[in-house]
Amino acid sequence: MKKIVLISALVVGSFAVSAQEIKLDKKQLLHDVQVLAADSMEGRLSGSEGNAKAQAYIEKRFKQVGLKPFKGNYKHHFKLEGRGVVVDKATNLIGYIPGKSDKAIVITAHYDHVGVRDGKIFNGTDDNASGVGALLAAASYFKKHKPDHTLIFAALDGEELGLKGANAFLENPPVPLENILLNVNMDMLSVNEKGELYASGVYHYPFLKPLLQEIKPRPEAKLILGHDKPEQGHDDWTNQSDHYQFHKRKIPFVYFGVEDHPHYHKPSDDFVNVNQKFYPDAAALVIDFIRVADQKLEASAANTK
Ligand SMILES: [Zn+2]
Repeated sequence: MKKIVLISALVVGSFAVSAQEIKLDKKQLLHDVQVLAADSMEGRLSGSEGNAKAQAYIEKRFKQVGLKPFKGNYKHHFKLEGRGVVVDKATNLIGYIPGKSDKAIVITAHYDHVGVRDGKIFNGTDDNASGVGALLAAASYFKKHKPDHTLIFAALDGEELGLKGANAFLENPPVPLENILLNVNMDMLSVNEKGELYASGVYHYPFLKPLLQEIKPRPEAKLILGHDKPEQGHDDWTNQSDHYQFHKRKIPFVYFGVEDHPHYHKPSDDFVNVNQKFYPDAAALVIDFIRVADQKLEASAANTK
């Protein structure tokens, strides 16, 4: 009898693992986005007071979630020069969850936006308070579900001025570059009428495809692979956000984002446009991908060689 009980317990156990569903705190997720996209953040332009306010909020949330800082500090400063702007003290915010291995997955989302133009605040809700909100949700998830790999969470500055925060991160990485196996970048996750989220990068790194195909479907967000082939011209998103800096250094990436919409880089990119059903499911798809990649990254890379 005992044996039979044990076996059925094992079966139930493994079923529970494979059917695991990502649960996230939707209220917290939306709150994080709403705070970062508030007028008081003044569009979060690199070097501005509003940008510093966003840093303070993200730092507070990193602490609450329980991310570890490298060398005692989440803030990594760098000099930013780009598009006619010099910011002496631009700031990436970096924290991590140690894994069983030194090999790392770097999860990125830029928190800067374009600031105030002609007296109008560009709140950058979708671009990219939404990515930072999802990054914080992912950090909370993996604090409760210990990863195998070290997970590094980087809220990056200076994306809008030429992917500068990602470049600074890689110029002065918190772990040796050769230990970084993957970048998961999020930029614009919350606005899409069709409920479609794209995952881009498989064209360059085919071994990532089976991992993306393992993500459990969500009712409100559909995952589509693409936007990564050179012949697509401007619809090839390979160089359009921070993941490009990783790609340039031959570090595999998956970029998650939605297609451009009427509020993209407009003062109307406000919290009111967030699709509150789609966005939490989009964030959950990304978290599920990180979960799968954490478990199967090396095996998939070895199989596809
Ligand atoms: Zn962006």
